[in-house]
Amino acid sequence: MAAIKAEYIWLDGYTPTASLRSKTKILDTEVRSLAELPDWAFDGSSTEQAEGRSSDCILKPVRMVQDPIRGNPHVLVLCEVLNPDGTVHPSNSRAHLREVTERFVDHEPWFGIEQEYTLYKGLKPLAWPQEGVPGPQGPYYCGVGTDKVSGRDLVEAHLEACLVAGLHISGINAEVMPGQWEFQVGAVGPLEVADELWLSRWLLHRLGEAYGVTVSLAPKPLLGDWNGAGAHTNFSTKAMRALGGLKVIEEACQRLSARHKEHIAVYGAGNEERLTGKHETCPITEFRYGVSDRGASIRIPIYTAKNGCGYLEDRRPAANMDPYKVCARLIETVCAEPARQYSVPVTATA
Ligand code: ADP
Ligand code: MN
Ligand code: MN
Ligand code: MN
Repeated sequence: MAAIKAEYIWLDGYTPTASLRSKTKILDTEVRSLAELPDWAFDGSSTEQAEGRSSDCILKPVRMVQDPIRGNPHVLVLCEVLNPDGTVHPSNSRAHLREVTERFVDHEPWFGIEQEYTLYKGLKPLAWPQEGVPGPQGPYYCGVGTDKVSGRDLVEAHLEACLVAGLHISGINAEVMPGQWEFQVGAVGPLEVADELWLSRWLLHRLGEAYGVTVSLAPKPLLGDWNGAGAHTNFSTKAMRALGGLKVIEEACQRLSARHKEHIAVYGAGNEERLTGKHETCPITEFRYGVSDRGASIRIPIYTAKNGCGYLEDRRPAANMDPYKVCARLIETVCAEPARQYSVPVTATA
C-alpha cells in the first residue's frame, strides 16, 4: 500500500484576518484528479468556525497541486469550508468569488498580485541588529550582499517550491525595508490567482519553519520611516487588453473612485497605518489615479499608457488582504453593467 500524504489546507474563522490551517490525511492510492479526493472534516470550535456542541465543519477540496516539500506523489489540497449540511460556511470567502467569476466570465478578467511580506526572527525583523536599527531605507530594494538583504535562502527555497508545485509565480524581489521581500503570482484568472496566492502563502509560512523564521503579512510592521507591506493587485479585462483599452481603463478608474470606501473595507485590516500618503502610498481617505504615479491609489503602468491598452495596478490592498474578497470586489465594480437608462415610457392614454 502506497501511503499518500495529502495536506488539506483551509482558512480559519478569525476576524478581521483569517489564518491558514492544515492537517494531513493519509490516502492509500495515488490521486490523479481533484474529483478523487474525499471531503474531510475538522473541529471548527478550535478555529472560530463552530460552537463546541456542534463542532464539525466540512473540508471540500477545490484545488490540488504537487507537494514540493514532501515530494511526489504527495499533494497539497486547498479546501473550501462548508457547514455539515453542505451549505457555504460564513467564513468561506471563496464561494462568492466563484459566483462572481461565473457571472462575469465574458469579461475574461486577469490578475497579477504582488505579495510583500516581512521576515522575523522572534520579535524582531530578520534584518534588525541585536542593538539599535539598520541604516535608513535606500540601499535595500533589489539589493545584493549581506549588508543589504537577509533571508535569501528562504526566499529562494520558496520560489523553487512554488515552481515545483506548478503555481504561476512570476517573480521575486527584495523590498525597500530591510528584511522585506515580494513575490508575484499571475497574471491568471481570479480563482486561480487567489487559490495560488493562498497556497504560496502557506508554502512560505511552512518553509519559514525550517529556517526558524516567521513570515508577517502585517501592513505596517514598524511605525516610523519604514515602508509598509502591500499586495498591489494588477487587473485587466479583455476590453482593457484590446485596442482602445486605455479608455476602458480610465472608465474603470472612475468607477473605482465612486466605490473607494467599499474597496478599502475589504483591502486588509490595519491598512490605515500603511496608506498614509508617505512611502509610495496615497492617503486612505483619498482616491487618485495616474500614469506611472506610485503615490496614487491606482497606477496606470507606463507601457499601458504608451500602447493604449493593458492593465491597471490597484496599489491599495494591504499584504494581509484576502484575495478572494479583493478580486471579487474589483470585478464587481469594474465589470457590472452600467445602471440601465430607462427611456420615458410612451403610454397610450385613452
Ligand atoms: P511593479 O512594477 O508594480 O513592482 P511587478 O512586476 O512586481 O510590478 O508586478 C506586475 C504584475 O502585473 C505581475 O504579476 C504581472 O504578471 C501582472 N500583469 C502583467 N500584465 C497584466 C495584465 N494584462 N493583467 C493583469 N495583470 C498583469
Ligand atoms: Mn512589484
Ligand atoms: Mn513592491
Ligand atoms: Mn507594484
